[in-house]
Amino acid sequence: MNEPSKLFESAAVLPDLSDRVAIVTGGGRGIGRAITLGLAAAGATVVPSARTASEIETVAAEAAGFGAPTKAVTADVTNSDDVDSLVTETIDTFGQVDVIVNNAGFNPASALGDPTDLSDDAITAVLDVNLRGAFRLVRAGGDALSETNGCVINIASVAGLVGLPRQHPYVASKHGLVGLTKSMAIDWAPAVRVNAVAPGYVATELTEPLQENERLRQSILDRTPLNRFAEPIEIAGPVVFLASDAASFITGETIAADGGWTCR
Ligand code: NDP
Repeated sequence: MNEPSKLFESAAVLPDLSDRVAIVTGGGRGIGRAITLGLAAAGATVVPSARTASEIETVAAEAAGFGAPTKAVTADVTNSDDVDSLVTETIDTFGQVDVIVNNAGFNPASALGDPTDLSDDAITAVLDVNLRGAFRLVRAGGDALSETNGCVINIASVAGLVGLPRQHPYVASKHGLVGLTKSMAIDWAPAVRVNAVAPGYVATELTEPLQENERLRQSILDRTPLNRFAEPIEIAGPVVFLASDAASFITGETIAADGGWTCR
């Protein structure tokens, strides 16, 4: 399940995204890498973006293996100029933008713990990447999406669907993203569909502290009916679906991909 090509080889039919150009923020590793490769496997031209040039260049090269053009663009989603340039460079290179995946996100140790100890900086930092980053990219790219009848896919979290203790900034940012998805869906309709995917626990760098703490890991498995962490590629499937015409009447929706975690 680890390697995107394997999952997508085994899929009976992949939607044809060969006429689409997709920007994926946080596309250098983890879930964003898998989404980039999943979209490329469906034929899309992909633009992975993040701050670390070496990582997105590696992913762009991997994605090129599926046959469509690719371009890595360095951008920090907290910087409006970077975000504007990401859209401009994509249009200058490929002539259009059809899909925006707002995936960049983090949950630093400084924003975990007792809510009375949280600094302003820690709160702001989380909201600035996880929530305001999506505002910025849709503000920059929304008109281009309107021209192509494109779509936005926000990578939220189960932390956007339920409350979690001692993670207030992250939970607030992800609930914000779910709300933003609904409001954007109203205002960008009928030209642009806006949806979200809410992953459960996925085996990436972000969740390494949870995977390495046996007590926490076991409590997550106990609550997850499928009894495991997801592989990043398992989040790419819903994103590819939402980017395709198979989802043409779906907007404002958040699809949980959580192994059943929110069933309990
Ligand atoms: P990773 O830490 O593995 O990857 C995060 C990506 O975001 C990296 O490519 C990173 O690149 C990029 N990024 C971080 N900050 C910025 C920034 N300021 N500007 C641009 N890019 C940035 O995380 P995951 O793959 O695990 O998470 C991806 C998304 O999925 C996040 O939004 C996360 O909240 C969400 N999610 C993850 C879950 C999980 O279990 N892993 C569960 C639910 C949701 P760089 O540092 O080079 O900029």
